[in-house]
Amino acid sequence: MAAANEFEDGSKMIEELTANAEQIQEQLLAHILNKNAGTEYLSRYLNGKTDKQLFKTNVPVVSYEDIKPYIDRIANGDKSNILSADSVVEFYRSSGTSGEKPKLIPVTDETRNLRMLYLALLTSVLDKHFDNIHQTGKRLDFMFAKQDIDTPSGLKARSVTTGYYKDQRFRNILSKRYTSPIEAILCLDPNQSMYCQLLAGLLQRDEVVLVASNFATAILRAVRFLEDYWKELCSDIRSGQLSDWITDSGCRNALSSIMEPNPRLADSIQNICGCKSWDGIIKKLWPKAKFIGAVTTGVMSQYVERLEFYGGGLPLVSGCYACSEAFCGVNLEPLSEPSNVAYTFVPNMAYFEFLPVNKDTLTTSEQNIEPVDLVHVKLGQCYELLVTIASGLYRYKVGDVLKVTGFHNATPRFQFVERQNVILSIDSDKTSEADLLKAVTEAKTLLDPLGIILVGHTSYADTSSIPGHYVLFWELKAKEGDNSLEVDPRIMEECCYRMEESLNYIYRSNRKQNAIAALEMRVVKQGSFDVLMDYYVSRGASMSQYKTPTCLNSKEAIEILDSRVMGKFFSPKTPM
Ligand code: AMP
Repeated sequence: MAAANEFEDGSKMIEELTANAEQIQEQLLAHILNKNAGTEYLSRYLNGKTDKQLFKTNVPVVSYEDIKPYIDRIANGDKSNILSADSVVEFYRSSGTSGEKPKLIPVTDETRNLRMLYLALLTSVLDKHFDNIHQTGKRLDFMFAKQDIDTPSGLKARSVTTGYYKDQRFRNILSKRYTSPIEAILCLDPNQSMYCQLLAGLLQRDEVVLVASNFATAILRAVRFLEDYWKELCSDIRSGQLSDWITDSGCRNALSSIMEPNPRLADSIQNICGCKSWDGIIKKLWPKAKFIGAVTTGVMSQYVERLEFYGGGLPLVSGCYACSEAFCGVNLEPLSEPSNVAYTFVPNMAYFEFLPVNKDTLTTSEQNIEPVDLVHVKLGQCYELLVTIASGLYRYKVGDVLKVTGFHNATPRFQFVERQNVILSIDSDKTSEADLLKAVTEAKTLLDPLGIILVGHTSYADTSSIPGHYVLFWELKAKEGDNSLEVDPRIMEECCYRMEESLNYIYRSNRKQNAIAALEMRVVKQGSFDVLMDYYVSRGASMSQYKTPTCLNSKEAIEILDSRVMGKFFSPKTPM
């Protein structure tokens, strides 16, 4: 396996891998089976054999709960070859959707090497499309480590991003390529970390060639933070002194070493941030930035409008599709519109299989359907992703539904459709994540002409009265910086109705028969979705990997938003 530092021409490598996808997938599966056929898990199904056909017929498709007992044993210190022949060196903590129960994914040295290679490939795609951007300046990349958790075995459980930030190979390139000091990234207080990363990004303003985070949420969080702190940041820049409330010694040392009184810089930032409208603020503050890099597909698509607003015309680049279980796809056309973004799978990252999903219901309800190999997926078809990796997941359901939208060489390109199992349901209706996002997108078009942005949304099925009904939480904001926002109640009711009209036939017929009551919209105060994020981060979610849940199932999370409701609106009539 090529390590990242041996790897010179990422684009060439992607071409080779995607041209030979079938062969590479076969070799990878053979490698995994040869290595791990003797493990306790695989030998139950394969009896020590390594042939692919046996793997396909005997090894079951599983989800996390099925293999949790094996993983728990490793976490508790059982050192026998349970899932993989190689030693587990740490676990990634994954939540998939923030708010779901965290999972532990075993990591071996091979996984760490793949992680570096994957990141090198992502970098090379950006360099190819943006004139060697990583050689011309620095990334202002908002990165937040999470506290490691010690498992009884002594192995650390950490988010995949934290694992990366702690990898020496990342640290070796950090100061050349990024504005954030490692101390700020590793600081466990999210506010101190954010303040220092923003400050470092502003101090090195003229060097910043791209503004990024893994997911759109962290960039928007940074802009919100800047709204509250720009005056203080300017004052620190002017005096060359770091604010007293930054008490983390690592942060203090790192920032103090790059700070000196700079009234000119402070003035220019103050002039920009003091404008009433923050339209294009990112471009104005970092004028050499060529694009904003962050995942803007799936549940993140709700943030595209705000990022475009703050970006002032900077392209949005949604570069990768990955999960803690496996690094999967790369967007080879980084300049494509967010709604057209598709990820070409990288065939040496995992052995990928795809369980066909019914296009209309987006379920894998039909029994005995066989998963298909990467190179055998069909254009236009939706699939649930399964991964097999050397560190010990076999035919494992990641929980995502993807749609084939094309091919690069012999390798398919996928659009992200939705997270499986995020479902609102009252009666016989089943509203998936994609259904809900579509309905929200449809309804919010009513707010566009009013200059109002939907900052965040989520939902839950309220069954406390009969019949139950869908509740949507919406946070709204005026485009032009004014915090006081009054929306005509009739418009909000129309939004409720528009959503209902966009939901599927079963929902609408249940509404007609009064098996579901009118959809309710609860408009919450500004900042509510930040408080929701803080809540999930305090419960263990990683800020770098935070994804707003489309649907809430925690009572506390619902209470957080309920306590900030400013207005409640109901759909005024039964949808057609
Ligand atoms: P985690 O392992 O906690 O980081 O979560 C991984 C999950 O994030 C994936 O399984 C997807 O549901 C989601 N995700 C990752 N990348 C993307 C992407 N490019 N577009 C949409 N969702 C994504």
